[in-house]
Amino acid sequence: MNNTKQTIVNIASAALPTTYGVFQIRIYKSPEDGLEHVVLIKGKKIKEPILVRIHSECLTGEVFTSLRCDCRDQLIKSLTEISKAKSGILIYLNQEGRGIGLTNKIKAYALQENGLDTVEANEQLGFATDLRSFKVAAQILKKLKICKINILTNNPDKITQLENFGIQINKTIPLEIKPNLIDIRYLKTKKYKMGHKLKLV
Ligand SMILES: [Zn+2]
Repeated sequence: MNNTKQTIVNIASAALPTTYGVFQIRIYKSPEDGLEHVVLIKGKKIKEPILVRIHSECLTGEVFTSLRCDCRDQLIKSLTEISKAKSGILIYLNQEGRGIGLTNKIKAYALQENGLDTVEANEQLGFATDLRSFKVAAQILKKLKICKINILTNNPDKITQLENFGIQINKTIPLEIKPNLIDIRYLKTKKYKMGHKLKLV
Protein backbone atom coordinates (compact mmCIF):
# COMPACT_ATOMS: atom_id res chain seq x y z
CA MET A 1 0.00 0.00 0.00
CA ASN A 2 1.20 3.49 -0.77
CA ASN A 3 2.37 5.10 2.48
CA THR A 4 1.11 8.54 1.63
CA LYS A 5 -2.44 7.24 1.43
CA GLN A 6 -2.41 5.80 4.92
CA THR A 7 -3.78 7.93 7.68
CA ILE A 8 -2.72 8.25 11.26
CA VAL A 9 -4.13 5.45 13.41
CA ASN A 10 -5.11 5.19 17.06
CA ILE A 11 -3.45 1.89 17.99
CA ALA A 12 -4.18 1.77 21.75
CA SER A 13 -6.14 3.64 24.39
CA ALA A 14 -6.97 3.41 28.08
CA ALA A 15 -7.86 5.51 31.09
CA LEU A 16 -4.91 7.19 32.81
CA PRO A 17 -5.45 8.54 36.31
CA THR A 18 -2.78 11.14 37.09
CA THR A 19 -2.09 13.75 39.74
CA TYR A 20 -3.73 16.18 37.29
CA GLY A 21 -6.92 14.12 37.08
CA VAL A 22 -8.10 11.31 34.85
CA PHE A 23 -7.15 11.41 31.19
CA GLN A 24 -7.71 9.05 28.36
CA ILE A 25 -4.32 8.10 26.97
CA ARG A 26 -4.13 7.20 23.31
CA ILE A 27 -1.25 6.09 21.17
CA TYR A 28 -1.27 7.19 17.55
CA LYS A 29 0.96 5.71 14.92
CA SER A 30 1.85 8.00 12.07
CA PRO A 31 2.63 6.85 8.54
CA GLU A 32 4.28 10.25 8.14
CA ASP A 33 7.25 9.41 10.35
CA GLY A 34 6.56 5.78 11.33
CA LEU A 35 6.62 6.80 15.01
CA GLU A 36 4.21 6.44 17.90
CA HIS A 37 2.90 9.62 19.50
CA VAL A 38 1.02 10.03 22.77
CA VAL A 39 -2.22 11.93 23.28
CA LEU A 40 -3.87 12.71 26.62
CA ILE A 41 -7.50 13.69 26.45
CA LYS A 42 -9.39 15.34 29.28
CA GLY A 43 -13.18 15.37 29.29
CA LYS A 44 -15.83 13.16 27.74
CA LYS A 45 -17.06 15.68 25.22
CA ILE A 46 -14.86 17.69 22.94
CA LYS A 47 -16.22 21.17 22.53
CA GLU A 48 -14.48 23.58 20.17
CA PRO A 49 -12.44 25.64 20.52
CA ILE A 50 -10.64 23.18 22.74
CA LEU A 51 -7.54 23.85 24.86
CA VAL A 52 -4.53 22.13 23.31
CA ARG A 53 -0.85 21.78 24.14
CA ILE A 54 1.41 20.28 21.51
CA HIS A 55 4.55 19.29 23.36
CA SER A 56 7.72 17.73 22.01
CA GLU A 57 9.36 15.04 24.10
CA CYS A 58 12.32 16.03 26.28
CA LEU A 59 13.71 13.08 28.22
CA THR A 60 16.47 15.05 29.93
CA GLY A 61 14.13 17.75 31.16
CA GLU A 62 10.95 15.82 31.89
CA VAL A 63 12.39 12.65 33.42
CA PHE A 64 15.76 13.76 34.76
CA THR A 65 14.75 17.34 35.70
CA SER A 66 17.50 18.95 33.61
CA LEU A 67 17.75 22.69 34.15
CA ARG A 68 19.05 23.27 30.63
CA CYS A 69 15.55 23.88 29.29
CA ASP A 70 12.05 24.79 30.35
CA CYS A 71 10.30 21.70 28.90
CA ARG A 72 9.40 20.04 32.18
CA ASP A 73 7.85 23.17 33.67
CA GLN A 74 5.98 23.80 30.43
CA LEU A 75 4.60 20.26 30.50
CA ILE A 76 3.53 20.60 34.14
CA LYS A 77 1.91 23.98 33.48
CA SER A 78 0.10 22.59 30.44
CA LEU A 79 -1.30 19.64 32.38
CA THR A 80 -2.34 22.01 35.15
CA GLU A 81 -4.16 24.30 32.71
CA ILE A 82 -5.84 21.37 30.93
CA SER A 83 -6.90 19.88 34.26
CA LYS A 84 -8.67 23.17 35.10
CA ALA A 85 -10.56 23.19 31.79
CA LYS A 86 -13.68 21.13 31.08
CA SER A 87 -11.90 19.46 28.22
CA GLY A 88 -8.44 19.64 26.73
CA ILE A 89 -5.81 17.75 24.85
CA LEU A 90 -2.09 17.22 25.25
CA ILE A 91 -0.33 15.92 22.16
CA TYR A 92 3.08 14.60 23.16
CA LEU A 93 5.18 14.31 20.05
CA ASN A 94 7.96 11.79 19.67
CA GLN A 95 10.55 14.31 18.52
CA GLU A 96 13.32 14.62 21.07
CA GLY A 97 15.77 17.52 20.85
CA ARG A 98 13.71 19.61 18.45
CA GLY A 99 13.70 16.63 16.10
CA ILE A 100 17.41 15.71 16.09
CA GLY A 101 17.07 12.80 18.53
CA LEU A 102 18.54 12.16 21.96
CA THR A 103 22.10 11.32 20.91
CA ASN A 104 22.48 14.43 18.80
CA LYS A 105 20.86 16.52 21.51
CA ILE A 106 23.52 15.35 23.99
CA LYS A 107 26.21 16.08 21.39
CA ALA A 108 24.74 19.56 21.03
CA TYR A 109 24.88 20.00 24.82
CA ALA A 110 28.59 19.10 24.71
CA LEU A 111 29.14 21.77 22.06
CA GLN A 112 27.25 24.24 24.22
CA GLU A 113 29.72 23.55 27.02
CA ASN A 114 32.31 25.04 24.67
CA GLY A 115 30.34 28.23 24.27
CA LEU A 116 28.04 27.62 21.31
CA ASP A 117 24.37 28.40 21.68
CA THR A 118 21.68 25.83 20.84
CA VAL A 119 21.25 27.08 17.27
CA GLU A 120 25.00 27.17 16.55
CA ALA A 121 25.43 23.71 18.11
CA ASN A 122 22.71 22.24 15.90
CA GLU A 123 24.25 23.87 12.85
CA GLN A 124 27.68 22.51 13.71
CA LEU A 125 26.15 19.03 13.86
CA GLY A 126 24.68 19.60 10.41
CA PHE A 127 21.07 20.16 11.41
CA ALA A 128 18.64 22.98 10.88
CA THR A 129 17.78 25.11 13.90
CA ASP A 130 14.48 23.39 14.43
CA LEU A 131 13.50 20.20 12.66
CA ARG A 132 10.18 19.88 14.40
CA SER A 133 7.16 19.31 12.27
CA PHE A 134 3.68 19.76 13.61
CA LYS A 135 2.03 17.97 10.71
CA VAL A 136 1.46 14.85 12.79
CA ALA A 137 -0.18 16.95 15.50
CA ALA A 138 -2.49 18.49 12.90
CA GLN A 139 -3.34 15.01 11.62
CA ILE A 140 -4.15 13.82 15.14
CA LEU A 141 -6.43 16.83 15.71
CA LYS A 142 -8.22 16.19 12.42
CA LYS A 143 -8.61 12.52 13.33
CA LEU A 144 -10.28 13.70 16.56
CA LYS A 145 -12.51 15.92 14.38
CA ILE A 146 -11.05 19.06 15.91
CA CYS A 147 -10.32 22.05 13.71
CA LYS A 148 -10.55 24.99 16.10
CA ILE A 149 -8.22 25.24 19.08
CA ASN A 150 -6.92 27.47 21.85
CA ILE A 151 -3.24 26.68 21.95
CA LEU A 152 -0.74 26.90 24.79
CA THR A 153 2.52 28.04 23.19
CA ASN A 154 5.14 30.77 22.85
CA ASN A 155 6.23 29.53 19.44
CA PRO A 156 4.92 31.44 16.39
CA ASP A 157 6.31 28.79 14.01
CA LYS A 158 4.03 26.19 15.60
CA ILE A 159 1.03 28.41 14.92
CA THR A 160 2.02 29.05 11.31
CA GLN A 161 2.58 25.35 10.68
CA LEU A 162 -0.75 24.33 12.23
CA GLU A 163 -2.62 26.95 10.23
CA ASN A 164 -0.92 25.73 7.07
CA PHE A 165 -2.11 22.23 7.92
CA GLY A 166 -5.68 23.50 8.24
CA ILE A 167 -6.06 23.99 11.99
CA GLN A 168 -7.77 27.16 13.09
CA ILE A 169 -6.12 28.96 16.01
CA ASN A 170 -8.85 30.68 18.00
CA LYS A 171 -6.55 31.88 20.76
CA THR A 172 -2.87 31.68 21.65
CA ILE A 173 -2.21 31.31 25.35
CA PRO A 174 1.38 32.10 26.45
CA LEU A 175 3.20 29.35 28.34
CA GLU A 176 6.10 31.21 29.78
CA ILE A 177 8.27 29.85 32.57
CA LYS A 178 10.51 32.05 34.72
CA PRO A 179 14.10 31.43 33.60
CA ASN A 180 16.62 29.79 35.93
CA LEU A 181 20.36 30.61 36.04
CA ILE A 182 21.13 27.80 33.62
CA ASP A 183 18.36 27.93 31.02
CA ILE A 184 18.42 31.72 30.64
CA ARG A 185 20.90 31.50 27.76
CA TYR A 186 18.81 28.85 26.00
CA LEU A 187 15.67 30.92 26.46
CA LYS A 188 17.43 34.03 25.13
CA THR A 189 18.41 32.07 22.02
CA LYS A 190 14.81 30.88 21.68
CA LYS A 191 13.65 34.48 21.91
CA TYR A 192 16.21 36.25 19.73
CA LYS A 193 17.11 33.57 17.19
CA MET A 194 13.94 31.51 16.98
CA GLY A 195 11.34 34.21 17.51
CA HIS A 196 9.63 32.73 20.55
CA LYS A 197 7.45 35.21 22.37
CA LEU A 198 9.10 35.48 25.78
CA LYS A 199 8.72 38.43 28.11
CA LEU A 200 10.64 37.18 31.13
CA VAL A 201 14.05 36.86 29.42
ZN1 LIG B 1 13.90 20.24 27.12
